[in-house]
Amino acid sequence: MKIADKDTKAVDLVRAALERAKECEDYHAFISMNEAHALERAREIDAKIEKGEPVGRLAGVPFALKDNYLSPEGETTAAAKMLEDFVSPITATAVKKLEDEGAIMIGRANLDAYAHGGSTENSYFGPTSNAYDKSRVAGGSSGGSAVAVALDIVPFALGSDTGGSIRQPASFNGVVGVKPTYGAVSRYGVVAMASSTDTMGCFAKNAADADLVMSIMSGKDAKDSTTLSDFWTKNLADAKPTKKKIGLISDFMGEGVDEDVKKTVNDYAAKLKRAGYTVENVDIPVLKYALAIYYIVQPAEVASNLSRYDGIRYGHRSSDIKSLDDVYSKTRDEGFMAENKRRILIGNFVLSSGFFDAYYLKAQKARTLLINAYNDAFKEYDALLCPVSPRPAFKLGENTSDPLQMYLEDVMTVPPSMAGLPAMAIPAGKSKDGLPIGVQLVGPRQSDQVLLNIAAEMEDK
Ligand code: GLN
Repeated sequence: MKIADKDTKAVDLVRAALERAKECEDYHAFISMNEAHALERAREIDAKIEKGEPVGRLAGVPFALKDNYLSPEGETTAAAKMLEDFVSPITATAVKKLEDEGAIMIGRANLDAYAHGGSTENSYFGPTSNAYDKSRVAGGSSGGSAVAVALDIVPFALGSDTGGSIRQPASFNGVVGVKPTYGAVSRYGVVAMASSTDTMGCFAKNAADADLVMSIMSGKDAKDSTTLSDFWTKNLADAKPTKKKIGLISDFMGEGVDEDVKKTVNDYAAKLKRAGYTVENVDIPVLKYALAIYYIVQPAEVASNLSRYDGIRYGHRSSDIKSLDDVYSKTRDEGFMAENKRRILIGNFVLSSGFFDAYYLKAQKARTLLINAYNDAFKEYDALLCPVSPRPAFKLGENTSDPLQMYLEDVMTVPPSMAGLPAMAIPAGKSKDGLPIGVQLVGPRQSDQVLLNIAAEMEDK
């Protein structure tokens, strides 16, 4: 990643990124650009360098911001009509930390509205295309961010991952995607999806760049009581795995998984072995319940988080109002996408009296079993290896009329989310049609840098 210095002007880095974004406009990776402000910031940084004043570790580095991170420049829309005109009075902690180190936001990247989805087709502003095949999905929900990095518009981009929204688009577009340990990065100033699994991470071209970005973003924040302290502090080279043992999750290598995906994972396992790792098959039967657990707990939290959009406090308000009921119902009907409404309905159903014990409580109990099963596996292994997704990027429109099929695509990414574990998507191969395929490494809580260390080691192999 190029950082501005005496020889490299921040203005040139930002201009190049903006020009490349323009060339790639038809992919629709961005909802809005931040051109004037980005250039102004770049000029400030160049002036500092000129005077010999200190600049940060990301001086002049342009980045794309998933449009669910709040910052006062332009509108933070979360890709929803509800927030189409919303200008934030605050800056998300993660963004502030990056900007304090000199990074420059050049535009706001597209997503599924409120991060609900796995293809970026649920965006109110229209879908993003895959960087390798315009007829296919970018993945989601952080599709715009992944595509912006894959197309070399920016060296890194921010995403949020609640059940796969960084890892799956990273895999679909051949870039590194980091979903950190729950609590690694502050959620303050990010539009909430499901608060017990929302994590803030990034996309980059390689593990070292991702590590640098995450080391800056992470850490304790008084505004988010779930944040962890003393985190992400090692040099990447020192974050070595201690056991040199990897478990290959056999539950995710069976029926229904694309042959090219299986081959990519097996090839990566072979590469690990050549590098001196022991790779063993491991069965974790409770994993088969993770998707069901996720699609109960997550909508419950979505229903609660989205209740704040009532047409009164901020965001869209219907203009066709004759009663108080209209304020709520018409506003919410107009402001939310179908997928948002589906999750609100499911969430309120599983939380309603009579069903709470049968669904929500049971899912939370099963979630504990899942966490225990992972903990047992990590007594043996540094990390678990599996696919990111059952198949490479699918066609635009292929799953839009079948929400259940869309949910099934998340089967391999939601388990670590429910357990709060770090999980990385690492580019590892291509399908016969030339579509990128990533592999997923999952580790115990706070082993994020160990996973990136393994990924970095394998990059040169
Ligand atoms: N695809 C998953 C879902 O639709 C994950 C979304 C996310 O991580 N934000 O819920």
